Amino acid sequence: MPKAAALQDDSLHQSHQILINIMAREKAKKDPADYSVEEKLKNLYALQSMLSEIDSIKTLRGELPLEVQDLEDEIEGMTTRIEKINNDIAELKKEISERNGKITENKANIERYNTQMDSVRNNREYDSLTKQVEYAELDNQLHEKKIREAKELVEAKTAEMTRCNLDVNDHRVLLETKKEELEEIVSETKAEEEKLRERAKNLELTIEPRLLNAFKRIRRNSRNGLGIVSVQRDACCGCFNKIPPQRQLDIRSRKKIIVCEYCGRIMIDRELAGLPSEAQEGAKKGTRKRASKKKEE
Ligand SMILES: [Zn+2]
Repeated sequence: MPKAAALQDDSLHQSHQILINIMAREKAKKDPADYSVEEKLKNLYALQSMLSEIDSIKTLRGELPLEVQDLEDEIEGMTTRIEKINNDIAELKKEISERNGKITENKANIERYNTQMDSVRNNREYDSLTKQVEYAELDNQLHEKKIREAKELVEAKTAEMTRCNLDVNDHRVLLETKKEELEEIVSETKAEEEKLRERAKNLELTIEPRLLNAFKRIRRNSRNGLGIVSVQRDACCGCFNKIPPQRQLDIRSRKKIIVCEYCGRIMIDRELAGLPSEAQEGAKKGTRKRASKKKEE
């Protein structure tokens, strides 16, 4: 633009005229159809970047609520499990105490039978009492065996409950973190998203409806949400099919809108997209990933 030079000129009329020219040019540009193919592509690519950013915000948010929900479900399941173990332990302890009661009862009986034996009148009575004693002793042995088993179970279940309690505590801590993270992202990205949407809306006004609709249709139909892509290593960045050299030349000439013949995405050359050239890319091989998106901050 010769603006700077013109302003240096002290002819007021001349600078005024230039201003009018600029305004006229600006006004003429209002109709999106009047943009050059190059400008159309550039605007479309800028729009793509904004929409991609909005997409990634939504993805970011879209996963966290699910993670929070999963954690809450897991904690609920664990709490039920802990409750059940607690009940089991209570049951076992009740069983142990009941069996102990029976043992005490049997012991008292044995003592009584022994006393009675001192005053038996015949062998039949003696044998009967001996049998009763034997019977009570066997019964106690069985109770003791069952008590040992129950105690082992109580021990195992207590250990399991300790593990479950630790687990559920870990989950609760994680849940709190995730919840905070989600709240933070929602409050943080809300403003960001609205700003992006506003900018995208303004940018959409500069793109003619037919092209914009085509772009949106392509975006809707593609899983990665890309409607306009560049060429990398002779391939379409949307579907990774090879682009013939002649077509690549056409893309670079920016004379008309070219679409990928495989996926239908609109094609833009790397330079116009503001991407580093492939030669540059190759030079800093180690740090390749940072190409187009610098939204990390
Ligand atoms: Zn393609």
